[in-house]
Amino acid sequence: MRKKSSLLTVLLQVGVVLLFVFGIYLFLNKDQQGSHHETAKNKTEQTAQKKTSAHQASSLPDVSPDDWELVLVNRDHITAEMNPDLADINGISVDSRIAENTRNFLAAAQKVDAGEHLISGYRSVAYQEELYNNYVAQEKANNSSLSQEEAEKQVQTYSQPPGASEHQTGLAVDMSTVDSLNESDPDVVAKIAELAPKYGFVLRFPKDKKSATGIDYEDWHYRYVGVKSAKYMTKHNLTLEEYLEKLKEK
Ligand SMILES: [Zn+2]
Repeated sequence: MRKKSSLLTVLLQVGVVLLFVFGIYLFLNKDQQGSHHETAKNKTEQTAQKKTSAHQASSLPDVSPDDWELVLVNRDHITAEMNPDLADINGISVDSRIAENTRNFLAAAQKVDAGEHLISGYRSVAYQEELYNNYVAQEKANNSSLSQEEAEKQVQTYSQPPGASEHQTGLAVDMSTVDSLNESDPDVVAKIAELAPKYGFVLRFPKDKKSATGIDYEDWHYRYVGVKSAKYMTKHNLTLEEYLEKLKEK
């Protein structure tokens, strides 16, 4: 009887130990499964993130930052005389490759407001230099206490130094209802800017983008970049500088 009961006690003790070990096994196993699950979840999220950025990159138009219509000319990209092959539209010259689009863009703009007209197109670096120097001289004449540097700084709020103006590409036009910068009806400007991409143009110096372009708002300066790029840039509110960065990342 005593032997029987001590055997029972031993069996019970073994049982308790087994249960305890099994419990620990279950606990550890569950934790591991949890961390596996966690890793799997992270992987899914990472894959999703990769897919999103790949999707964004692939939705970029199939163009190269080296394409002729995406050439970048600004104060950080001073460019020598480019001598494009020119075509004449109402006395304004543009790169002959964009002549048809410019004509069509102008015609569409004139349907919005009959007063829309081309003010400026291609300007050689030499002509831009002449223009720039005249402006500097004017500023100095208006205020004799200005140094050369101060006068140039003043001029650069409305005109580019030679080699830094997009007009030398033949891919930029100034188009407005009036011959003064930022004096056109903003509603008309908004409508023209909206239809510009259809003809491959973008409003090149939008409001609140001076940090990217280095240029204050200009309601008349349109730049040809090609239809696909113009539509993408407008949709995503990108300047040419920002857009080219994205293309180079791709
Ligand atoms: Zn311009």
